[in-house]
Amino acid sequence: MATAVRSLPTFENTYARALEELVLPWRADEAPNAQGLLLNAGLARELGFDVDALATPEGVQLLIGHGLPEEATPVAMAYAGHQFGGYSPRLGDGRALLLGEVVDASGQRRDLHLKGSGRTPFARGGDGKAAVGPMLREYLVSEAMHALGIPTTRSLAVVATGEEVVRETMLPGAVLSRVAASHIRVGTFQYALRAGGPELVKRLADYAIDRHYPEVREAGNPYLAFFDQVLQAQASLVARWMLVGFVHGVMNTDNMAISGETIDYGPCAFMDAFDPATVFSSIDQGGRYAFGNQPTIATWNLARLAECLVTVVDEDHKQAIEQLTAVLETFPVRFHETWLPGQLAKLGIAEGRDGDDELINALLKAMHDNGVDHTSLYRALATALRGDDAPVRALFVSETDVDEWLERWRRRLDAEGRDVAEVADAMDRVNPIYVPRNHLVEDALAMATAGDMSSFSTLLHVVSRPFEERPGLEDHAKPAADGDGPYVTYCGT
Ligand code: AMP
Ligand code: MG
Repeated sequence: MATAVRSLPTFENTYARALEELVLPWRADEAPNAQGLLLNAGLARELGFDVDALATPEGVQLLIGHGLPEEATPVAMAYAGHQFGGYSPRLGDGRALLLGEVVDASGQRRDLHLKGSGRTPFARGGDGKAAVGPMLREYLVSEAMHALGIPTTRSLAVVATGEEVVRETMLPGAVLSRVAASHIRVGTFQYALRAGGPELVKRLADYAIDRHYPEVREAGNPYLAFFDQVLQAQASLVARWMLVGFVHGVMNTDNMAISGETIDYGPCAFMDAFDPATVFSSIDQGGRYAFGNQPTIATWNLARLAECLVTVVDEDHKQAIEQLTAVLETFPVRFHETWLPGQLAKLGIAEGRDGDDELINALLKAMHDNGVDHTSLYRALATALRGDDAPVRALFVSETDVDEWLERWRRRLDAEGRDVAEVADAMDRVNPIYVPRNHLVEDALAMATAGDMSSFSTLLHVVSRPFEERPGLEDHAKPAADGDGPYVTYCGT
């Protein structure tokens, strides 16, 4: 059926054609009473959509996978994954579909993907549906991450299906359409190894190289260089999460993208009081995916990818394992190469020197000991440079802790001799004042679920310009009031 919406981008399907074994052609469920809740107009334009047309009833149908252009061949993608350490050989898109690939205005190929579009052959016991709240959460947090400059999938739209989904209560259903550099996951390689052995892994690696890391073709061993690039992308990504206090929450191997984008926002959140043990997932009892454990888990996931690549890296498996292990062992250094300059910039330090790690670690320890709000701290430090110490002092319980550290920091800045007003402005350009605060997100999602989008719209507007202080938004810059209790989000929604 030809689409009723004119001037659409061309839907391509290079992945489905190159890797037939890894996809199942499938169709989205019907939802005749679908209503658009949110549309990302800027992103839609980047992709070559006519924004006005997407707002029409036909456009809304397109955003849930109906009335696609003739050339489109939607597929459910196959993948496996280690979930909380346990291996599931066949996960796949149980409630999702890859509609196709679109080449955007800058020439980049991007996946257009639906979540909540109905059961697929990968659904296992699931209903294939998604509720409005979790889809809005993904939209909000992914757009906040994008505004923070952190690699991430984007959100194009959320459409209410007009149907109810059964969770602990009945909830309004929704479909999220998201845009990604690709949806190739560590778990896709794990699936490929079982399903088709080294030959399929090689074809998947070739495809991923062409799409994401074409420069590794020049390397002596392109597959080893590919692994090196994926590791680099993940090390830098996780470092950037940590610099803004982000906890992914469910870093299963199926939720780690080869492209280096943050993917699959479930029980994720930005922490308030700094504590490396912070977890947000209700089922993460052991703290596997705690804030401070993220580099370790990223390395663990990359080791699973390395296992898949052994046979393609070298015919001599012992050699291959040695080479891959040598790359894997560089993770801490690569992580630190992004994290340290990032931390220095947060503190207004232009050039690193010996002793900086100690200065930073002393701050983190004091923040932990005093339960300091992570986001507020760095803005308060800039305010201190502008002559007002009160906000930063108010964040600490122990006056000695804050005074000692402030003195040490000021000496360090004096040694650089830069103009303090300029340093403070530079700090504000890298330290967000607004992140999606858990308590505000929860309130906005509860209201949206009840049909009132006003708080959600405000929140989206606020986190889309995270560095720019605006009057009237003071509440958005504060953590939850004491006594709100710990915050958890729930998986499998
Ligand atoms: P996620 O928690 O969204 O990363 O999903 C993990 C796995 O469970 C993926 O294979 C999903 O497709 C599948 N899944 C999650 N929720 C559902 C659902 N309601 N129906 C079918 N499959 C689901
Ligand atoms: Mg997932």
